[in-house]
Amino acid sequence: MILKAAWVVPVTSPPIHAGYVEIADGRVVAVGAVSALPSTATQVTDLGNVILTPGFVNPHSHLELSCYANLLKPARFWNWIEQLIRLRSKPGQLERERDAVIDGARQSLRAGVTCVGDISRRNCAWPVLKQLPIRKVCFVELLTLADHPPRNPDELRRGAREVVEDELLTVGISPHTPYTVPFDQIRSAIALADEIRRPWTMHLAETPEEVAYLRGEKGALSPTIEKLLAQCGIKAPHCSPIALLAECSQGVRPGSIAHANYVTDDEFGQLADVGHVVIYCPRSHHFFGHSPHPFMRMRAAGVTVALGTDSLASNDSLSLLDELHYVRTQVANPPPPDELLQMVTLDAARALNLDEQIGSLEPGKQADLSAFSCAPNINDPIRALIDSPAPANAVWIAGRPVI
Ligand SMILES: [Zn+2]
Repeated sequence: MILKAAWVVPVTSPPIHAGYVEIADGRVVAVGAVSALPSTATQVTDLGNVILTPGFVNPHSHLELSCYANLLKPARFWNWIEQLIRLRSKPGQLERERDAVIDGARQSLRAGVTCVGDISRRNCAWPVLKQLPIRKVCFVELLTLADHPPRNPDELRRGAREVVEDELLTVGISPHTPYTVPFDQIRSAIALADEIRRPWTMHLAETPEEVAYLRGEKGALSPTIEKLLAQCGIKAPHCSPIALLAECSQGVRPGSIAHANYVTDDEFGQLADVGHVVIYCPRSHHFFGHSPHPFMRMRAAGVTVALGTDSLASNDSLSLLDELHYVRTQVANPPPPDELLQMVTLDAARALNLDEQIGSLEPGKQADLSAFSCAPNINDPIRALIDSPAPANAVWIAGRPVI
């Protein structure tokens, strides 16, 4: 099958005007200018005035929270999380959140997002996502404080084993945060990911209070939370989040760090050397009223930074184009459009250890593609995409049309 488009944006090379992508057995076989296509080419579909891109990759989502969209007002993280816990505990949680996963996956696909890194609290999302034609890394979350498993490394291992992988579904491991999981359990969770050779991710340095707590400041978190942590055997490690991360992930493959909002500049080099990917969630970041994210300085220091949406409980949409539009219009000195696009494709794929398979249009990669309408006279397709975010009008996953 050959798809012709007004513009093809491979990400790893400049956009091609009047381009084509050839697909066979679910993979990209060739990418180039239509003028180079032999006249004998068959099975050619002309998509017309569209921009064809690799499907976008959202490396940090909690689709099961999609049902809490528009219910919580922008607030400080700690106030928000209390309200969220209250909302989630209302009767019918499992059914409600199962439907939310379906809804969130559909919204993602419509926005041209073909792969999600999704964290599910009770390991409930994967059977739902498995039925849906979207690529996914289903992270099994370890949260020692929780009422439901997985709450310890054994339950985590069991949870990971339950997940039935297929060509679109990969299991991942996520120790929740360093203030909800004891140090040794974070280490064994990351070691488990390394043992089964699957991606891992952790929320880290999300709030100033978390950083103060980790450094050993008494009263950094609320007395109720600190009492709860003590009961679960969680102790402040008396170090910075990045020092803790280094201790817990020594000798294993790098992972992805969600947020990293309050990492100090002198530690960026360490993150870059190890190769952890930072996931910045711009609109969710704004929702919580955090200080400006240091992602530009991180990038300058060599850290790979991907963009994610976080959940609809702290964001307006699951569209990564909306995320790019926000950064381009609301953040001081944003990266140029081509670099922004890479942050939701190839860099985001790297956050999920999938950059060999997706994130760009190159021969051998999975044919995950999204097509967006464009005006006939544009000359910068990436800028056009970001300036006026719109739903995708066609999406393919492993070469199969899903929208
Ligand atoms: Zn999160």
